[in-house]
Amino acid sequence: MASSQALAGQALAGQVTLVTGASRGIGRSIALTLAAQGAEVVVNYANSPDAAEAVVAEIHACGGKAWSYQANVADEEQVELMVKTVLEKSGRLDVLVNNAGITKDGLLMRMKTSDWKSVIDLNLTGVFLCTRAVSRSMLKARSGRIINITSVVALMGNPGQSNYSAAKAGVIGFTRSCAAEFAGRGVTVNAVAPGFIATDMTKNLDVEPILGAIPLGRMGQPEEVASAVLFLAADVASSYMTGQVLQIDGGMVMR
Ligand code: NAP
Repeated sequence: MASSQALAGQALAGQVTLVTGASRGIGRSIALTLAAQGAEVVVNYANSPDAAEAVVAEIHACGGKAWSYQANVADEEQVELMVKTVLEKSGRLDVLVNNAGITKDGLLMRMKTSDWKSVIDLNLTGVFLCTRAVSRSMLKARSGRIINITSVVALMGNPGQSNYSAAKAGVIGFTRSCAAEFAGRGVTVNAVAPGFIATDMTKNLDVEPILGAIPLGRMGQPEEVASAVLFLAADVASSYMTGQVLQIDGGMVMR
């Protein structure tokens, strides 16, 4: 937890945050970073209970507050129950980070419909389900932060990832529409678009050809995405920002 300890502070003291897909990779790092700023973190996971419990234990060991909750974010009933449970157990919900995501890569001509559907269901519909589920309480409270993890491939496309880039591009449009809908009630909605980050998702990639396309010359670390999420979650730091996409990509896509 070195990097989150380095950032330790109270920017999110008293706030309750829900991070989807927080058992591993970028979501894990977001959970640790938000907890290090005083937030109570709900660590959502789907298939890795031990990893989720390890994140909770790591937060507790540093004096933070966290608990885990298993739910498939592509399942409407499970999402509704998760948000209801958070509101009942913690009494409020201030920050939602829609981070859970998967890849099912393949060239379009050979892409199975099931691989198209499962990526859209989780990476796009899951964001819709979680956002809709938290919107009622946030709009009523007239405050809240929603942060959606998209990807630079939403902006540039990527061969073999038509399903994934379509879902992530959908997340950007969704982010902007929700930002416009919720702005009058003090709820901001922003997105973070990572480039290539060292996690399980990218561990089998041949990175050599990719590195040449990254001006900073290396893959990013999960903590470098988590600090952008913290900026968007913190009340004062990003108070005049909504509907935006922050790229954390080593300069890979400059627009
Ligand atoms: P990862 O290491 O593969 O972790 C994925 C996380 O999502 C895990 O915690 C997993 O939990 C969770 N998850 C998977 N299916 C789920 C479901 N149905 N319901 C709830 N949680 C589920 O991936 P990552 O690299 O950290 O990626 C995190 C996010 O960043 C994703 O949205 C990804 O698209 C995006 N992103 C990643 C990169 C990159 O280079 N790594 C770049 C751009 C964007 P369980 O293990 O418990 O199932």
